[in-house]
Amino acid sequence: DVCARMDAVEGEVGAYLLDTREAALAEANRVDTKIAAGEEISFLAGIPGAIKDNICTKSVRTTAGSKILESFIPPYDATVITKLHAEDAVILGKVNLDEFAMGGSTENSAFQPTHNPWDTSRVPGGSSGGSAAAVAAGTAIWALGSDTGGSIRQPASFCGIVGLKPTYGRVSRYGLMAYASSLDQIGPLTRDVTDAAHIMNVIAGHDVMDSTASKAAVPDYTEALRADVKGLKIGLPKEYFVAGMDSEVEASVRKAISDFEAMGAEVREISLPHTDYAVSTYYLIAPAEAATNLERYDGVSYGARVDGEDLVDMMTRTRTEKFGAEVKRRILIGNYALSAGYYDAYYLKALKVRTLIQQDFTRAFEEVDVIMTPTAPTPAYKIGEMSNPLQMYLQDISTVPVNLAGLPGISVPCGFTAAGLPIGLQIIGRPLAEETILRAAYAYE
Ligand code: GLN
Repeated sequence: DVCARMDAVEGEVGAYLLDTREAALAEANRVDTKIAAGEEISFLAGIPGAIKDNICTKSVRTTAGSKILESFIPPYDATVITKLHAEDAVILGKVNLDEFAMGGSTENSAFQPTHNPWDTSRVPGGSSGGSAAAVAAGTAIWALGSDTGGSIRQPASFCGIVGLKPTYGRVSRYGLMAYASSLDQIGPLTRDVTDAAHIMNVIAGHDVMDSTASKAAVPDYTEALRADVKGLKIGLPKEYFVAGMDSEVEASVRKAISDFEAMGAEVREISLPHTDYAVSTYYLIAPAEAATNLERYDGVSYGARVDGEDLVDMMTRTRTEKFGAEVKRRILIGNYALSAGYYDAYYLKALKVRTLIQQDFTRAFEEVDVIMTPTAPTPAYKIGEMSNPLQMYLQDISTVPVNLAGLPGISVPCGFTAAGLPIGLQIIGRPLAEETILRAAYAYE
């Protein structure tokens, strides 16, 4: 069972920041009582999962992977947690992430590294690295992650599992600790596509507590898996298949695409001409929003406080001591881009380019139903290998455009390197077309 598995491998993997097994067992016993009483139970009842530690859980410590929230206990549940509890799903624990979801390897966690279960000398990806590693290691059946610029899809790809970033607004962000509010979405990481559809059935939908939540009706995502992919029009953006991509990744992705052709899908080359600007645009907009969102950690209202001579000194000491290097870097970049003399040159320009990137996708989706790319340019790298932040940012080339355009994207395993490392295929859909990308992923897996 999952608990035995946790005892056996968690020491090597390090996915969990907090083990809430006892509460989970009590919850599972309640499900047993329901079954014994002949009550109907939900599909997810008693199924154990893990929650990324930037999603608030009432009375259960939630750290965002940061020292500044080391002992923060939320007074409320995120909407997704309320919905999961309503289905009697059980929560085994809170899992590791890059501090405030800033990163792509989980090495920016203030607490511990997480190891990739396929090769423990390698990173699990990030920032939802704990979520992906737990599912891949079998220490959770499902997990929730958050994806601002790839943080569900890229760790899913590195760990050989399925990860879905829903359309912006499809899942409520209420109770998700904000990183970049115009990009953040919560989504599932699961062993297969059917499980992703099951979790989506529970967490998707409107929420009065999130003003950006979509009012569109929620379809039955598992029902959507039945249709095939005959006649599905697949676009391959030529800008994504360029030099610099790992050759084994490219070969696996191209093989997957020919498998789709064999199933009756039509493949054509398309162009997303502003792709080259996506990483720079993202690394202006996301830090700008982050700098603003993280202003609340001031030693007064939330989390840790380091005493000082006066108020300003207290705030300065708290933020200096408790935020990690990457978070500080983003706050500096963000405030710089937003400052009076530079706003037009950087932040405003980034917003304009974001619109051009969105328009690239709108035009492409007049021609094709889905777009396929590698999820990440390389398989999982060694812990400590990606020491230069810029080099790490460039890894996000295939995932960040999807967030900038607010589209749904899924990563599905599409093979292994000769060294046995998993490779992921990314399938991108039109707004609110989760059904289409789930169906395509299901037909393939
Ligand atoms: N790697 C990206 C970043 O560091 C994406 C993170 C995310 O999606 N939360 O911002």
